[in-house]
Amino acid sequence: MTVTELYESVWDGVQLSAGYILDPNKRIYYAFLVTSVVLAFGVFRTSKIKGSFLHYIFNPRVWWGDSPKVDYAFLIFNGLVKVIAIAPMLVLGLYLSFYTKEFLLSKLGYPELQISSFWIVFFYTSTLFVVKDLSSYVVHWLFHKVPWLWKFHKVHHSATVLNPITQYRIHPFELIVNNLKGLFVFGVVTGCFDYLSNGQFSVFSILGVNVFGFVFMALGANLRHSHVKLEYPSWMESWVISPLQHQVHHSDNPDHYDSNLGSVLSIWDRVFGTLIKSREVTKIKFGLGKKENPRYRGFWQNLFP
Ligand SMILES: [Zn+2]
Ligand SMILES: [Zn+2]
Repeated sequence: MTVTELYESVWDGVQLSAGYILDPNKRIYYAFLVTSVVLAFGVFRTSKIKGSFLHYIFNPRVWWGDSPKVDYAFLIFNGLVKVIAIAPMLVLGLYLSFYTKEFLLSKLGYPELQISSFWIVFFYTSTLFVVKDLSSYVVHWLFHKVPWLWKFHKVHHSATVLNPITQYRIHPFELIVNNLKGLFVFGVVTGCFDYLSNGQFSVFSILGVNVFGFVFMALGANLRHSHVKLEYPSWMESWVISPLQHQVHHSDNPDHYDSNLGSVLSIWDRVFGTLIKSREVTKIKFGLGKKENPRYRGFWQNLFP
């Protein structure tokens, strides 16, 4: 790779990361940032926090301390990883879906099903969402439980303060694994529905934004990585992970380790016994604890754990 090509790739990576703010598929889409601020205001009012609301949400410690600077470095660096390593892999999802469909056709013949396009879209969207969410739980569980994988995942947990950009503080290896997992799930589920839809598959292309993801993000998903303690009613936390529940996942208290591993749904945590609800926790300190934190302070320390 020449210097010019590297420069172009870095620039593409920066543009890709910056473009998230205008992409309704991304959590930091500006409209979701607005709903997050509104929800944060609700928490500010009901928790009787001292000082002004602006200081509460724009506290420099949260946005410009040592820990957030590492988050920003990963946002930019991972943008480059996406351009160089992940973008060329995206076609794998389409290949996998094509071969899944071909495999089903060769084994089962043409399907007899006659389902309207509406129901195909409905079942496709919900199946993809549920399978994706379950696979995220399984992969996240492995990153916590398998010691050599935990070494990489510690990068996300070494953040000692959380802000919405902390979601991009992920080691490139984990980013690649997560994308491969996403492509695998997309390929298999899409292939199955392509097979079942009997040629009506083009209707899927109208699904720009996943409805389920949209609702989840509008419910303050950005506050998961923040100090705003937004909890959902207890019954709801049995189904969907609230921002405070994800903050518990970042706690340095050993009692909270390996809990709330879910991405959107908390059903998997409930089934596998890793669920902690907000009301069970009083105080949370983020990070890996006093002993481990100093080893994961700077960007390079995190990149080469
Ligand atoms: Zn984790
Ligand atoms: Zn997190």
